[in-house]
Amino acid sequence: MSQIASKWAYTRGLHELGNGCYAYLQPDGSWGWSNAGLIADSGQSLLVDTLFDLRLTGEMLDTMRRAEPAASRIGTLVNTHSNGDHTFGNRLVEGAEIIASRACAEEMNKDLGDPGRLAEMKRNNDPSSTVGAFMAEIFSQFDFEGVGRVLAPTLTFEGELERRVGNKTVRLIQVGPAHTRGDVLAYIPQDRVMFTGDMLFINGHPIIWAGPVANWIKACQLMLDLDVETIVPGHGPITDKSGVRAVKNYFEYISREARRRFEAGMSVYEAAQDISLSDYSSWGDAERIVINVAALYREFSGGRTRHEGNLFEMMARLRASRRRDSRTRPE
Ligand SMILES: [Zn+2]
Repeated sequence: MSQIASKWAYTRGLHELGNGCYAYLQPDGSWGWSNAGLIADSGQSLLVDTLFDLRLTGEMLDTMRRAEPAASRIGTLVNTHSNGDHTFGNRLVEGAEIIASRACAEEMNKDLGDPGRLAEMKRNNDPSSTVGAFMAEIFSQFDFEGVGRVLAPTLTFEGELERRVGNKTVRLIQVGPAHTRGDVLAYIPQDRVMFTGDMLFINGHPIIWAGPVANWIKACQLMLDLDVETIVPGHGPITDKSGVRAVKNYFEYISREARRRFEAGMSVYEAAQDISLSDYSSWGDAERIVINVAALYREFSGGRTRHEGNLFEMMARLRASRRRDSRTRPE
């Protein structure tokens, strides 16, 4: 499969989608390089997600304020999920209402949503090891030291919640657990625009931190069933329903492939190495197949899969070995 085509430029910064809806994009969409959104109407504003550190989030807010007067005071922030690349800048909109699903709120400041833990990981990282080199590569551009604790939601919900922004209605639809435990879509029906957070990675491999994958496939179907034209993913270029279809196909494909290898008794790493990703060779971050196979194995075994070691370490190994292969393979 070639790259998913986009009629929108994939350049860093703010892109006006029309009618007061904006996407803020951070190419290349790889680890930590997330997108965000702004919805403005009649002097009111709603921000969808902050970025991975305070500097990046500050730059984004400055750009938004220059383009849109209603962004001078963000009234509402929606966090689509708990990962740091969508929440670590929350502090910069202090005073705003902050909305997230209840499950997202419970996950904030934990694991990869914990700025202190990431700062410590970076400080103690040994880049001479394979996993250390991987960590250095994916986190070197971000500054976790000044983030402190993530500003928590002031309002949580389960299922669905509607918010008015001026005369616009924004529908917040919980579709997780899938990528994380509490993923939420932000959908503006009258503009046929949707911000999906990390329920969509475009031209990069999605990553199943939580699962079950069936929820993710169901969420893709929901996106396909809604009346929507412009879709802003959590990572990668702006897309439409063709991007949703590609992600749905990917999950259906890796579910089938992982199942066969699970039944044949292959380990997570063996299966991750063995599954052909040639149809997805233009998608970045292929090492995420490790996390995805591990998540599927957990599901297949009813949560009883044995501990197979550090998944980041396995991703680092796979990434390094794929790089060696691509250097030695004749084109
Ligand atoms: Zn993300």
